[in-house]
Amino acid sequence: MQNLKESLTLVRTRIERACTASGRPVDAARLLAVSKTFGADSIRAAAEAGQSAFGESYVQEALDKRAALADLALEWHFIGPVQSNKTRDIAAHFDWVHGVDRLKVAQRLSDARDPAAAPLQVCVQVNISCEASKSGCDPAQAQALCAAVAKLPRLRLRGLMGIPAPIKDARDARAPFHELRVLFENIRASGLPLDTISAGMTDDLEIAIAEGSTLVRVGTAIFGQRIPT
Ligand SMILES: *Cc1c(COP(=O)(O)O)cnc(C)c1O
Repeated sequence: MQNLKESLTLVRTRIERACTASGRPVDAARLLAVSKTFGADSIRAAAEAGQSAFGESYVQEALDKRAALADLALEWHFIGPVQSNKTRDIAAHFDWVHGVDRLKVAQRLSDARDPAAAPLQVCVQVNISCEASKSGCDPAQAQALCAAVAKLPRLRLRGLMGIPAPIKDARDARAPFHELRVLFENIRASGLPLDTISAGMTDDLEIAIAEGSTLVRVGTAIFGQRIPT
């Protein structure tokens, strides 16, 4: 797992350089290591190299890995689309959820969260590419959804999450991240205390950080190519 350690160091260096290049503090963007499809042994190796926050997209796969890693104090983020029939498991076994895009799932997550546990940290996912097929709420609805989520007792609204559609022209790459940032600023100006922009992956983390991302979700650059499931 020597490669994994080196890959992690490279990713951290990319993040720090991107922060500095955009005039932000070196630690302005956190790293979420996206470990979906990789085994518990890979996560353990990353944890030994100092990584503590991990992102998973498939509930059952994540629960199996959590059980195998119960001896480690890790932070688990659910980054996949949230299906209504999975809200109980997500509320019970994750610290963060990034894919909340409608009030119904937010309500179910809040209802299912153990009142004795810390509130579930939530990012509202916004469809920043206006693609009918992608998940995420309509940008025009984001502020109202955030206001409603912020009122739910066992959730803590942290910010916005976005995944831009693949683009044909590199000059257009910045626009969706910019749109997400403007939305974030507007919602903050309305009085909601957001502190997180969850944006940027292996191929575009520098662009996302230049547009204000505070949390990048990186899989391939750390763990290698995923075998399609
Ligand atoms: C898989 C995934 C990532 C990681 O993508 P890479 O290109 O491998 O870095 C980030 N965010 C979400 C929501 C994902 O599903």
